[in-house]
Amino acid sequence: MDERPTFGPVLIVGGGIAGPALAIALRRAVIDSIVYESNPEPRDEAGAFLNLAPNGLNVLRELGVENLTERFGFRNDRLVFHSDTGRLLADAPVGGITLMRGALSRVLRDAAIHAGVRFEFGKVLDSVEERDDEVVARFGDGTTASARALVGADGIHARTRYSFFPEAPKPTYTGIINLGGVVRTDLPSTDTAMHMIFGRRGFFGYAVRPSGDTYWFSNFAQTEEPARGSLEAVDADNFKLQLLALHRDDPSEVTKILQAVAGNVGAYAVYDIPSLPRWRRGRVCLIGDAAHAVGPHVGQGASLALEDAFVLAKCMRDLPNPATAFDTFERLRRDRVERVVKQSRRTGERKAPTGWLGRKIRDLILPMFLRKGAQATEWMYSYAIDWNERISSTRT
Ligand SMILES: Cc1cc2nc3c(=O)[nH]c(=O)nc-3n(C[C@H](O)[C@H](O)[C@H](O)COP(=O)(O)OP(=O)(O)OC[C@H]3O[C@@H](n4cnc5c(N)ncnc54)[C@H](O)[C@@H]3O)c2cc1C
Repeated sequence: MDERPTFGPVLIVGGGIAGPALAIALRRAVIDSIVYESNPEPRDEAGAFLNLAPNGLNVLRELGVENLTERFGFRNDRLVFHSDTGRLLADAPVGGITLMRGALSRVLRDAAIHAGVRFEFGKVLDSVEERDDEVVARFGDGTTASARALVGADGIHARTRYSFFPEAPKPTYTGIINLGGVVRTDLPSTDTAMHMIFGRRGFFGYAVRPSGDTYWFSNFAQTEEPARGSLEAVDADNFKLQLLALHRDDPSEVTKILQAVAGNVGAYAVYDIPSLPRWRRGRVCLIGDAAHAVGPHVGQGASLALEDAFVLAKCMRDLPNPATAFDTFERLRRDRVERVVKQSRRTGERKAPTGWLGRKIRDLILPMFLRKGAQATEWMYSYAIDWNERISSTRT
């Protein structure tokens, strides 16, 4: 029996982070793919910035796009934590990079197109159906596409998941709203550090570039889940007043940054999916946020999406059919991913504001925890995948 992979062009739904990364890695495995993206055209300006951790950078290096990332981002070597009074709590080494999410998506898409991958925009996936020897994707414009395998990389509210895995739990709102953007200030450069403040009523992070460009974000608790799309409709000026009130007792840099906010504010309700019963069935597999969205608290969402793409491409390279490749992929990834999701939840809980006594206790134990945390999270950040290692379906 012929044991060579027989995938033909793979359908990839979603052209965010995981989708284009998978397409590049598949080209390296000499497997063709087509990426279907719902946006009518690239929306590289949309969204906030993110931190790519060393494990994500390892994958970018393997995909050959790491240098490009340096052009669009800046090194983020230290996380410096402060209390609400400005007291230094800890200075932790990281070693990642900060860049706009849209820039990362663009870099990956450009590299995929350069490698010969076709992108189709304005293709809103509506449903996925498996037949004997193929999978059929139906799009909102009435068109269909069929292939021997389909990968859903369509993000947290993935249509692939709702359509093909109807039993899957819905994403959980974590009770946290994240806002952020880039403004111009005259604060001194923070060099390669990102400052994080456990504010009186919300968590605030910022980094100032030598140009004065100031990257900032704020996490605050909101019990009620906002309606889908409602945050996008709110004016930046409303956010500004809300944020200034929220952070009014925090160090003066915070107020200064917030006063400079104008125009573009990215606002997101933070979701995660603690555990999906399965990420694959037959010829269909989910990767990235579609399979396992993780909150932003340990800066791992994009890095995990990149890892998934790279490992899945290896599985498809080495294993003879979609079902075996997807099954092996899930077995190789599940434990690590779920450990990161739990870690992110725990970290998010520590950011929640508390009363006077809670703050005092936190300020006492946090430095110790953060120092230990740097070693305790080594498993998360130092992870690297060897492209040359062969995958076998019997591996556990
Ligand atoms: C506020 C916030 C801060 C974050 N900070 C960090 C951070 O610091 N570090 C980090 O690593 N991660 C961070 N993340 C997470 C990170 O952005 C995601 O984990 C990452 O983008 C996941 O990539 P993905 O490709 O799986 O999904 P996405 O990037 O969401 O891409 C999904 C793509 O699918 C498309 N799509 C959706 N529906 C359809 C459809 N029906 N048909 C066709 N296409 C469709 C979308 O338009 C999109 O292009 C953050 C997320 C948020 C919300």
